[in-house]
Amino acid sequence: SATNENNPLRAYAPSMGQMFLRRFQLVTQFRSAVENGQISVHYQPKVALPSRQVVGAEALVRWKHPEFGRVDPDEFVPAVEATGLVDVLTDFVMDKAMERVRLWLDRDLRMSVAVNLSVRTLADEEFPDRVGRALVRHGVPPELLTFELTESGVMADPERALPVLRRLHTMGVVLAVDDFGTGYSSLAYLRQLPVDEVKIDKSFVLGMGTDLGDMAVVRSIVELGHSLGLTVVAEGVEDDAARDQLVGMGCDVAQGYLISRPLSEDRFEAWLRARTVQ
Ligand code: C2E
Ligand code: CA
Ligand code: CA
Ligand code: CA
Repeated sequence: SATNENNPLRAYAPSMGQMFLRRFQLVTQFRSAVENGQISVHYQPKVALPSRQVVGAEALVRWKHPEFGRVDPDEFVPAVEATGLVDVLTDFVMDKAMERVRLWLDRDLRMSVAVNLSVRTLADEEFPDRVGRALVRHGVPPELLTFELTESGVMADPERALPVLRRLHTMGVVLAVDDFGTGYSSLAYLRQLPVDEVKIDKSFVLGMGTDLGDMAVVRSIVELGHSLGLTVVAEGVEDDAARDQLVGMGCDVAQGYLISRPLSEDRFEAWLRARTVQ
């Protein structure tokens, strides 16, 4: 059409133009999507090894977009992170997550919930105050809230991230390093961070069955984590073989499709109930 010929983006790189437009739409629509109930939080259980006892869940955001359908967080989280809207995302997920912990406590289930933090949030010196207020508002003990942060997130601006992390840690919130093993400065800096938990990146756990190198990485992270007194969590546990290997290595906690996919609030509750009945 004439419009396509006159539009260089359409004529030479249609997919790039469309991607740019979609990203723009996602960012501009995010706030109203939160208000209109298009954004929800799913929960993926974490179980202790070898007991299989449920110790908590990771909160993972979901967007059901009226035009695009389900939009993957790997697409919209980075777009939202690049704007000032990341607070809206973090506060929404944190609020939902604490609501769950409170609900579980009221049923005598002591389980923690993990919330992912973006680079931007780590640089926000007012964030710890907001967390403190949310804990009080929901009546949630700080040790039942975990924040997952990536190495690159901390390293982006350690001068600003460290004070924020120290304050959160002093409040008694649990801190976990996510996607561990994918960064470059892992070993040296892990000691310096006020963290309690290390999550082995799923790429290594997924590769463990077929790749001896991945197996060696997983084993050494478990040993390193333990030597620093940290809880070691493996994500991406998809089969019994991986689980058995992790048990053999002494890994503390497992998360992955073998145990369950991330589930909506209602389905997670049903999953929990079915487990406790057994
Ligand atoms: P992540 O923090 O590394 O989360 C784990 C991802 O692995 C999730 O993808 C989860 O669904 C997936 N996963 C879990 N078990 C398995 C498994 O056994 N096999 C495989 N192949 N994958 C598994 P998801 O939900 O698509 O989230 C993608 C990323 O988006 C997250 O990676 C996280 O970085 C980001 N994200 C999700 N929710 C939030 C949020 O509320 N805030 C922020 N800042 N980031 C979020
Ligand atoms: Ca995570
Ligand atoms: Ca991860
Ligand atoms: Ca990731």
